[in-house]
Amino acid sequence: MAKARTIIHFECAKCKEKNYSKMVSKKRKFEKLNLKKYCSKCREHRMHKEIK
Ligand SMILES: [Zn+2]
Repeated sequence: MAKARTIIHFECAKCKEKNYSKMVSKKRKFEKLNLKKYCSKCREHRMHKEIK
């Protein structure tokens, strides 16, 4: 059975630190995800953009 899941990573929009990763289905409908999460480098909440 083929793997239906892949891992995507999220980087801080400002400092580019990769703070988060997430398992998602390859069949997901959304093209790109953005998360507002705490960045330990900026030491505040920032938008995190999905990267490969
Ligand atoms: Zn940051």
